[in-house]
Amino acid sequence: MAIQEDNLFKNVISHSKEYGFIFPSSEIYDGLSAVYDYGQNGAELKNNIKEYWWKFMTLLHDNIVGIDAAIFMHPTTWKASGHVDAFNDPMVDNKDSKKRYRADVLVEDAIAKMEEKIQKEVDKAAKRFGDSFDSEMFIKTNPRVLEYSQKIANANARLKESMGNGDMAGMKKLMEDLEITDPVSGTKNWTDVRQFNLMFSTEMGSIAEEANKIYLRPETAQGIFVNFLNVQKTGRMKLPFGIAQIGKAFRNEIVARQFIFRMREFEQMEMQFFVKPGEEMKWYEFWKEKRMKWHKALDLGDENYRYHDHLNLAHYANAACDIQFNFPMGFKELEGIHSRTDFDLKSHEKYSGKKLQYFDTEDNESYIPYVVETSVGLDRMFLSILSKAYTEEKLPDGSERVVLKIPVPLAPVKVAILPLVKKDGLPEKAMEIMNELKYDLRCFYEEKDAIGKRYRRQDAIGTPYCVTVDHQTLTDDTVTIRDRDSMKQERVKISDVKSQLIAACSINNILRKIEQ
Ligand code: ATP
Repeated sequence: MAIQEDNLFKNVISHSKEYGFIFPSSEIYDGLSAVYDYGQNGAELKNNIKEYWWKFMTLLHDNIVGIDAAIFMHPTTWKASGHVDAFNDPMVDNKDSKKRYRADVLVEDAIAKMEEKIQKEVDKAAKRFGDSFDSEMFIKTNPRVLEYSQKIANANARLKESMGNGDMAGMKKLMEDLEITDPVSGTKNWTDVRQFNLMFSTEMGSIAEEANKIYLRPETAQGIFVNFLNVQKTGRMKLPFGIAQIGKAFRNEIVARQFIFRMREFEQMEMQFFVKPGEEMKWYEFWKEKRMKWHKALDLGDENYRYHDHLNLAHYANAACDIQFNFPMGFKELEGIHSRTDFDLKSHEKYSGKKLQYFDTEDNESYIPYVVETSVGLDRMFLSILSKAYTEEKLPDGSERVVLKIPVPLAPVKVAILPLVKKDGLPEKAMEIMNELKYDLRCFYEEKDAIGKRYRRQDAIGTPYCVTVDHQTLTDDTVTIRDRDSMKQERVKISDVKSQLIAACSINNILRKIEQ
């Protein structure tokens, strides 16, 4: 059943609340804007995504190790990283709707609209000319398309310049020239554009003084940079090598209206790959490709991923791209891959006065390595999986079901153990099986309600397998295993159940696909 995109997003949000995946934070006090809690099923799914990432990074690459750095860091860290001075977003309000926006996002949306218009012209012409249509030639010569392309190039260049120079007046002028209107009020009645720093701060110790001001980290990466030499020396690491980390990050986002897509407290899975200067572009391409393979191995549909090169490079990068995912609200950033040069280590050297160099025994020289970073939002991964897994199905008997087709190894519960009826010794037999499986697989036991209802409840949380114990089980030691997606049932000997399910649920099934 095709679901309207708008409805899909709403349905995913309400489903995830109803089935214990995600709750608004401190909901009894009406929640806290852009902060969410993961419920019993959400926490399991999240842990499984982490495991998938962590194993890929640290098990499949013998030159990558993982760390777990603190959220609080010495305040000078954020001076050195550039975040105190440059981690700003341009903020603008519409005076009529009183809504607040990021000016750069409004401009990017306007550019995307022009790109859509070009595509429409191309589609129209393709229809008109049929087989003989040469789209490349059309784009190069059609006057209307040329006009749009010119406008897009101009807007991109001005956006880059304003962002680079922190020129907020230029940003406002660009918004005016592009005739950007507020999607809510429909007017162009904007305030001036102002810079807004996204870092949260608090005080350390008992005296509230400016000197005690510390920040909640806005990215996990700096915990890796400041530990670069610790890890390199104690792990006797040789270039190229990587340090991976999963952890919380905090940003006081200006606009936070997209569920767990943009949160003020979120989790990142980041890896900094240290390389010899001059080799960074090779590794940048390497990690672009590897990370895309990691995503696609989840089988959520290859057409739902694409690269998006950055035109406005962050203050630390010499090349950067996003892996975008087709979320319910369209293609948006899921992961960033950045070539960060030696910006961070060099700056930490300067601010700390400590050498952060690598001694290359082959070349017999010391230097600051370059860094290629991969940074993926755990919550955005969660949303990508949940939104593609969510399926409303009409069944042959006319009934409907909602099923979460979560990749099997990531499902919160792997096996539901269900005695067909709550008597005749079936619950005892079912418990016996559960006690055998529970060491290896997350199981769920339930004996209440008709079996069909229980299957539906498991479909709704994405449980891939239901093991049903019936009267036949007592005579021939077999059970049925029901498959979530096909709903087919297969009779299996109890002695084979464990090995069969462990094999089907192993995360290695996905990991192996990446290497193929
Ligand atoms: P955006 O352009 O969407 O604000 P960003 O480019 O600032 O994102 P990065 O600094 O590259 O993001 O962070 C790396 C990853 O962290 C992103 O690809 C995203 O998955 C995740 N992330 C960043 N900000 C948030 C947030 N507010 N909520 C959830 N995840 C986030």
